Amino acid sequence: MNKTLLLLSTAAALMISGCASHEAEVKEHKAAEHVEKTAAAHGASHEKHWDYAENGPAHWGEFSKTCGTGHSQSPINIVPGKSVEMNHQYDLSMHEDVHTTASVIDNGHSIKVTLKAGGTITLDGETFKLLQFHFHGKSEHTVDGKRYDMVAHMVHQNPETKQLAVVAVFFTEGAEDPILNDVINNVGGEIEVDPQDLLPKDTAHYYHYIGSLTTPPCSENVQWYLLKQPVEASKEQIEAFRKYYVDNERPVQELYDRVVESN
Ligand SMILES: [Zn+2]
Repeated sequence: MNKTLLLLSTAAALMISGCASHEAEVKEHKAAEHVEKTAAAHGASHEKHWDYAENGPAHWGEFSKTCGTGHSQSPINIVPGKSVEMNHQYDLSMHEDVHTTASVIDNGHSIKVTLKAGGTITLDGETFKLLQFHFHGKSEHTVDGKRYDMVAHMVHQNPETKQLAVVAVFFTEGAEDPILNDVINNVGGEIEVDPQDLLPKDTAHYYHYIGSLTTPPCSENVQWYLLKQPVEASKEQIEAFRKYYVDNERPVQELYDRVVESN
């Protein structure tokens, strides 16, 4: 691996989301050199990006090896009957009741809300900061094979170790959600938000396991907490979100030798 590639792949590894296919792009740049001028003239991009269609999940190994070969990948199907008692050392403690400004962007894979000063969670005595939350048009994790109507992924990071912890909030169709309208109506803008409003009343019951990002680079060692109590969103809200994204879910991955904890 030459220096440029090494730098590019280090940058890719540091990215939490977005197109991290720099290495693939570099290779393609070379192959595409002869058509580059023509492509530029037509304003066309020769860059290959991962997506949920022709460069979908089955091809993500071409963008990041881990997506294809990792044995701790997410999402998974949760089988409640097979989960084990929660190791209380890793109990989830949430402190998301903060008022903050956030930017709302359509990043090409989801609608993402990046918080100026998010709340925190604590796990095993370590504090993880809420960086962003985003949505999937159906839940990525399934419970006994069942997919929820939508899911919010709240992405937290330990600023020292850089480890990630994602809290998943499942949505079922029902009453109006207090945050979704603001998000959907302000794509490309800013909103005022209290991330606590995204959470169900009961945040004390969840499934926990160690997995990965569900998008390239599919980095592992991510702490996953799936809250058991879903929140509700109205049919109109779900439809409004799905005008942006409906099939942005990665298929469930093999569990291999991992265990899922539950409380
Ligand atoms: Zn997600």
